[in-house]
Amino acid sequence: MKNGEVAIQRGKKVIETVKKTLNLLGGFENVIEKGETVLITPNYAVPMRSDTGATTNPEVVVGVIEAAREAGARKVIVAESSIVGFDAGKIMTALGVKQMFEKVGAKVLNLDEKRHDVVAKRVPRGKLLKKLRIFRPAAECDVLISVPVLKTHIYTGVSLGMKNLKGTLPDVQKKIFHRVGARKETEEEFELDRCIADMMTVHNPDFTVIDGVVGQEGFVPGSGVCGTPVKMNTIIAGNDFVAVDALGAYIMGRDPLQVNHIRYSHEMGLGEANVENINVLGEHPDTVRREFRHAIPGEIGKYENVTIIEGGSCSGCSFALRWTLNAFKPLHIRRWDKSVFLVGTNSEPPGEIEGKPFLIGKCACNLPIRNAIKVTGCPPPFWYVINELKKEKRGY
Ligand code: SF4
Repeated sequence: MKNGEVAIQRGKKVIETVKKTLNLLGGFENVIEKGETVLITPNYAVPMRSDTGATTNPEVVVGVIEAAREAGARKVIVAESSIVGFDAGKIMTALGVKQMFEKVGAKVLNLDEKRHDVVAKRVPRGKLLKKLRIFRPAAECDVLISVPVLKTHIYTGVSLGMKNLKGTLPDVQKKIFHRVGARKETEEEFELDRCIADMMTVHNPDFTVIDGVVGQEGFVPGSGVCGTPVKMNTIIAGNDFVAVDALGAYIMGRDPLQVNHIRYSHEMGLGEANVENINVLGEHPDTVRREFRHAIPGEIGKYENVTIIEGGSCSGCSFALRWTLNAFKPLHIRRWDKSVFLVGTNSEPPGEIEGKPFLIGKCACNLPIRNAIKVTGCPPPFWYVINELKKEKRGY
């Protein structure tokens, strides 16, 4: 297996397709030495089934576990930490995937229970990060495998193998990635892409298997999840984490060099993002390619009776607000009395606010606005916002 070599396979039998994809690259025998400990990190960041495109299809993980064991791994661990406010252990149990992984011989680790089992690595090449906290099992395993879903993302454009590694970081580090409470240091909108590329310089996967069985596109208010599912029946894999993500982005209709964290990683020499330089085995990417709708954060601001005023906010509050509004049906939002959401330290409210003001997050709560509903927290969990909205008769 060479760097810059990526395999793509399509097929409805998921486990078989995973193994075929790996075999195109010579199998895990090229990646795993006999007796090694392998840690697989899938995406169980939110409590949604894989047919929504939000989480990893468990059969993809089973295929990877079986292949790792067949290659001689002594121990295979499936480990995950969810997004802030959720618990990966509860999610994996509720979805029934924990039992599936244990049945094929993997140990399932809820990293959210290991808050203090963390190592800190220096990031000498980091542009924003100087130190990176990683859950010890993910930092000390012999082989790290990222198994993300093929999907779009409101801040990073796409969410693939590199971004998926946030699931191996404790909440305090995830918040730093989202620049919660951090001073803005660059002109980049959310700086999350830069943090991901910085992470990759010291903590990156030995292998990536993208689950494109059901991907996810767009950002849909009222769907209950971030976007809508896209059936692709596709697996993309390889050991060059930049090249695999670049191909994943390309298959979703993007130019990978326009996706910031992919381009930054390419520019730092961490892998190949130029599709023309990637040696693709199996399916030609153009036969699989399909334009995914963008996950545009502004999409939620299209209601005439809802105004969002943001300034100087980090993605923590910005995301909390959008996630909240996403939980309400458009039909119901349109019936709300006029509502104005202010986020961030520098939100500049108009002289006269038309509608009920909601101050989202600690920063906005300091704004001198009378009769406002304050939702504290840094950032507030989205259900705090939902509760305040319900109290104000903004119904589902
Ligand atoms: S309150 Fe919100 S905007 Fe302010 S630092 Fe915290 S997460 Fe960021």
